[in-house]
Parts: sequence; C-alpha cells; structure tokens
Amino acid sequence: MAVDNCIFCQISNGQDPKSVLVVETNEFVIFQDIKPASQHHYLAVTKNHYDSLKDLNKTHDSLVQRMESALKEFLVGKGVSVDDALFGFHLPPFITVKHLHMHAIAPRTQMSFLSKLIFRPSFFFKTTDEARSYLSQKE
Ligand SMILES: [Zn+2]
Ligand SMILES: [Zn+2]
Repeated sequence: MAVDNCIFCQISNGQDPKSVLVVETNEFVIFQDIKPASQHHYLAVTKNHYDSLKDLNKTHDSLVQRMESALKEFLVGKGVSVDDALFGFHLPPFITVKHLHMHAIAPRTQMSFLSKLIFRPSFFFKTTDEARSYLSQKE
C-alpha cells in the first residue's frame, strides 16, 4: 500500500518520472542512489511501504534475500565486483527516507571517510547478513 507524500512509494510505483528504474520485480525496484557513497550505489526499494527493517519479521527473510540477489546480479551484469561491495539497511532514527530500502555500494574500499562512517556496520546500519539474523528472531 502506498503512503501519501512518500517519495519511495512514488518511485517504486513508477510515479516519479525523474527516477530510472534499472530493475523491477513484482516486489521491489532498483534505482541509483541520488547521493552515491562510492562509484556504484543503488537502492532496492519495496513496492509495499514498510517504515524500516523494524516493520519486518522472520517471514520477510526470503524477501531480503531476493533484494540482495537482485542487487548483486545487477552489479555483476555491469561488470562490478560484488566481493568488494556493501549491502545493508539503516535503522531508525538514522534513515533519510522512512521507507524500507537496501543499499548496495561498490567498491566498498573506495568509499569516502564520511560515507564509511554513515554506512559502517553498527547499531544504525545492518548488513544484509546482520539484518537476516535480526529478522530470524522476530515473530
Ligand atoms: Zn513509502
Ligand atoms: Zn539508507
């Protein structure tokens, strides 16, 4: 369900003419982050509105896996190495858009100092693996 004034609801439903969707499935879309943290920076955004990872539970594990696989497949298709890439989610309150989105950033080793801080696996950023173990404990 779309939420009024949510930019990611608009983009994922194809209602933002400025956004180029590079991948679209029935569950999510992938597009370029407007503030790239490295040479390649994409977001996988669900078509359903969830505020954040905190709105998901263990039943969403496969969705998270599919989002990561699609991002990896897309990067590999562009000739980008996914060995040096970072995949993950921000947690509230460190979220710029309150609509679930997975970041894919590559090369991870070429991120700026500031970007490394913003996307450092920590209490406010969870890698996909951390997110999946977090979800596995949520009913
Ligand atoms: Zn939304
Ligand atoms: Zn984010």
